[in-house]
Amino acid sequence: MENNIPAIYGSLVFNDKIMRNKLPKDVYKALRKTIQNGTHLELDVANAVAVAMKEWAVENGATHYTHWFQPMTGVTAEKHDSFISPTDDGQIIMDFSGKELVKGEPDASSFPSGGLRATFEARGYTAWDPTSPAFIKDGTLYIPTAFCSYSGEALDKKTPLLRSMEALSNEAVKLLHILGNKEVSHVSTTIGPEQEYFLIDKEDYKKRKDLIFTGRTLIGAPAPKGQEMEDHYFGSLRPRVSAFMHELDTELWKFGIPAKTKHNEVAPAQHELAPVFDTANVAVDHNQLTMEIMKKVADKHGLICLLHEKPFEGINGSGKHNNWSMITNTGLNLLDPGKTPGENTQFLVFLVAVIKAVDDYADLLRISVASAGNDHRLGANEAPPAIVSIFVGDELTQVLKAIETDSFFNGGNKVQLEIGAHVLPHFVKDNTDRNRTSPFAFTGNKFEFRALGSSASVATPNIVLNTAVAEVLRQFAEKLSKVPEEELSSAVHALLKETLSEHKRVIFNGNGYTDEWVEEAARRGLPNLKATPDCLPCFVSDKNVKLFTDHKIFTKGELFSRYEILLENYSKTIHIESKTMENMVQKDFMSALSAYISEVAETAKAKMSVVSGISVGYEAKLLEKLTALQEDIMEKLEALKADTKTAETLTDALKTAQTYENTILPDMEALRAVVDEAEALIPDEVLPYPTYSKMLFYV
Ligand code: ADP
Ligand code: MG
Repeated sequence: MENNIPAIYGSLVFNDKIMRNKLPKDVYKALRKTIQNGTHLELDVANAVAVAMKEWAVENGATHYTHWFQPMTGVTAEKHDSFISPTDDGQIIMDFSGKELVKGEPDASSFPSGGLRATFEARGYTAWDPTSPAFIKDGTLYIPTAFCSYSGEALDKKTPLLRSMEALSNEAVKLLHILGNKEVSHVSTTIGPEQEYFLIDKEDYKKRKDLIFTGRTLIGAPAPKGQEMEDHYFGSLRPRVSAFMHELDTELWKFGIPAKTKHNEVAPAQHELAPVFDTANVAVDHNQLTMEIMKKVADKHGLICLLHEKPFEGINGSGKHNNWSMITNTGLNLLDPGKTPGENTQFLVFLVAVIKAVDDYADLLRISVASAGNDHRLGANEAPPAIVSIFVGDELTQVLKAIETDSFFNGGNKVQLEIGAHVLPHFVKDNTDRNRTSPFAFTGNKFEFRALGSSASVATPNIVLNTAVAEVLRQFAEKLSKVPEEELSSAVHALLKETLSEHKRVIFNGNGYTDEWVEEAARRGLPNLKATPDCLPCFVSDKNVKLFTDHKIFTKGELFSRYEILLENYSKTIHIESKTMENMVQKDFMSALSAYISEVAETAKAKMSVVSGISVGYEAKLLEKLTALQEDIMEKLEALKADTKTAETLTDALKTAQTYENTILPDMEALRAVVDEAEALIPDEVLPYPTYSKMLFYV
């Protein structure tokens, strides 16, 4: 069984095949219609689906069900109810109704709402999302749901994602019809998220309060070796890692998650997993599940999977690459250049729309990946810079330039442009190292948004991307809708030309890690929003409020609530880090240091009595260094404590976040520097926690 992949693939999922087998024909048809077109589902259909789902779940060992949702905490939430229903004769039956399938009422009051519940209803409800399949995990039937307040405000990440997918579909379909592609009735966004992570030994993890409470090391001197030899990337897998990856793949396959690629990453102990792409909504759910299963499987192997964006200083952190495209219900990838001139025109229109969207809403894309954890990566020469730009490659750049200058690139010969008259080449995939520095790269038939942090939900960046592109498609359709058919070709050309000359500033094919690019980007007027508190205020700017409310993705209230939540989240994260650091340094490190100092002092004293009463020798010098460092640590620790206390009294969310960014983080860095210096002088066995060397090189 374990080796029969096709048999285990999706075995824990209530998928299409099972639905077709288990559901009455008309019910199956009605459900398919809802899944494909988002039409309303009648309660009798829901009842029939619930019965079939429960039967299947119970057959497969499930005793409970849960609505599974994605509140603003960034992780998923669940509350399990059993299927049992007592009968009059003291027995039970396994029961599950359509109502229970469609709607749940978890107590919403303990989830972040950013003030939404203060103004509206205290309760929230979950609503079944039939477009993402239910599955069984640990004896429970999981039903993917959206999470809203009673007055309909979204309290989660799925609701706005579904809204944004619909917005993009509507606008894309309208534009495609104008362009003459009338068969298309629906456009889906597709995502393939590549996931990076670290694996370390569980015993090491247990000894590090910083990893336990914050997910990253707050202190720790560098190991003698880092990633400078470049020997880990794509290196051969160590047996323990290989065993982990094998089981992980098998587990993911059972959930119908098409895990495809696995390899070692650049940093020691760092790895990556990539699935085959899927519809945005399903891919987001799958990525959440993937992260959870990674942690679980690691635990079984005596390992800990770290998903933090920057668990270790001095080596690369972890991100996610969000591969993104749009596909029509007729099976056409709209970012594929295609094989006919007609497809080419369509491709160019959609390509240029994405370019404009990224330029117009660069601030939102930056915000969509902003978190305290990801701030350690962005712009740190290991991840794309905080400046959002697009890589399109030299070949496509020439094509775009030709459009702008009224000449067409054709194998090096410039000829008069006539859109649709020439078949575009298939563009070479972006595989080179240089291109890895771009935050937003065209890779042949999709875009790859590379600035995402490893632990974050991929929902947010895709909400922004879908909505921004939907808006530009709307503008394009508006411009082209009044054009008579015989003038369409030249109108499209004019539109592309005008759009490109206005937005080419966002295209950058060079090395995004250089200082020159930072200067060049400033000259081009591209925003460089370095840290989370710098970019978050843009979330509620007039321009962005208009975008989200126009497309009915967020109400103004929802936007402001999310803004509050993001700010609070940032401050809370750094606050926990500060308190953890204080605890670790004060209680663990300082006592170890004191003990070691007295040991050294003993030896120094012993030597002193031998050598004429003057402090000489190795120990005496070491003692001097260690005591000086200890004084320094004391001082910096006190500064961190005092500043954190002050930060705790602040009430304004933005000011608080700025204080954590500009005061607490530098305090922590200063403290870390001296602690690490002292750590380097102390024997490993005296240290109360495992070193970088131990954690990174012994799995
Ligand atoms: P790499 O980036 O390593 O060269 P690939 O180009 O094969 O690898 O794909 C990387 C990811 O992009 C995979 O998860 C893949 O499924 C996904 N992907 C491929 N085509 C699309 C598409 N049309 N839409 C979204 N994701 C896609
Ligand atoms: Mg990639």
